[in-house]
Amino acid sequence: MHSDHVLRVVMYHYVRDLPRTQFPRLKGILIDDFRQQVDELSSKYEMASVESALDFMTGEYRPRRDLCLLTFDDGLKEHYTDVTPFLAEKRIRGIFFLITSCVEERKVAAVHMNHFLMAALDFDEYAGAFFRKVVALSPDAFAPLNIDAVRAAQTYPWDTPEVARFKYLFNFGMDPELRDRAVRDLFATHIGDEAAFAQELYVTWEEARRMQRSGMSIGGHTHQHKPLANLGTRELLWDLETCHRLLLRNLTQQAVWSFSYPYGKRDSFHIRAVRKLQQLGFRCAFSTESSDNRRGCDRFTVGRTDCKKALVATAAGTVG
Ligand SMILES: [Zn+2]
Repeated sequence: MHSDHVLRVVMYHYVRDLPRTQFPRLKGILIDDFRQQVDELSSKYEMASVESALDFMTGEYRPRRDLCLLTFDDGLKEHYTDVTPFLAEKRIRGIFFLITSCVEERKVAAVHMNHFLMAALDFDEYAGAFFRKVVALSPDAFAPLNIDAVRAAQTYPWDTPEVARFKYLFNFGMDPELRDRAVRDLFATHIGDEAAFAQELYVTWEEARRMQRSGMSIGGHTHQHKPLANLGTRELLWDLETCHRLLLRNLTQQAVWSFSYPYGKRDSFHIRAVRKLQQLGFRCAFSTESSDNRRGCDRFTVGRTDCKKALVATAAGTVG
């Protein structure tokens, strides 16, 4: 039955030969494992583009096999240097979601500062330094602290409970201005200059245009990489408008613009963000809820499977 087919969207972040980099403790997929995974996915699935995936979701395209779409968050440099050449050779068209402030202003997103600090420092040393820094900036910052350990573990299933709690607190549980000041200070002390680091970490606009010429689709991933549900209306609208404007100004026109929610769990964005994305002309948006997608599904809450689970079969219809 045609209607039984699903669209599996796979989500990637770091794709690098970690043991040979300066930050071997970063969490990511090795390049060889990535290549092997793409080959296995290609043999099991029909590899989709954003256009064919959209046509599948609206019911205009009835594929003969399940579809698989590859997506890459955060506009990391290796998506240009390693991922794009491999996919182009295989004639696979991935989507790459850029954080526009990282490309335009050479900023390092707080979430990435946190990754690199955790990879560079002993966890207890880092967490201790971070909390001391926050308390020094704002003595009662943690007064109402109440972290949901279950939610934290669900959000970061690959981390130890204490690391998951820390990441959950860092990303969702505290004043983002305060967090950013603390993490920027620690980053400057332990890692180095932010702009120089951003230059190495993220693609440039020119590289993104070359990725488009290689058949890749570029999408939006906000301007600032903050959880959209935490933003007031003005900042939310400004962030999404800025992201959209910078994509259109700096990139080659595309038939379809898509979007990926930072953090991406269902509670990290809400209907105001969806409405604004629709108004700006984005055609679909991807979450990080790990469900496969069916014909007629909501195109603004498209489910994605983490690359660590990409080849594990999920029973049709029971996921999510
Ligand atoms: Zn992201």
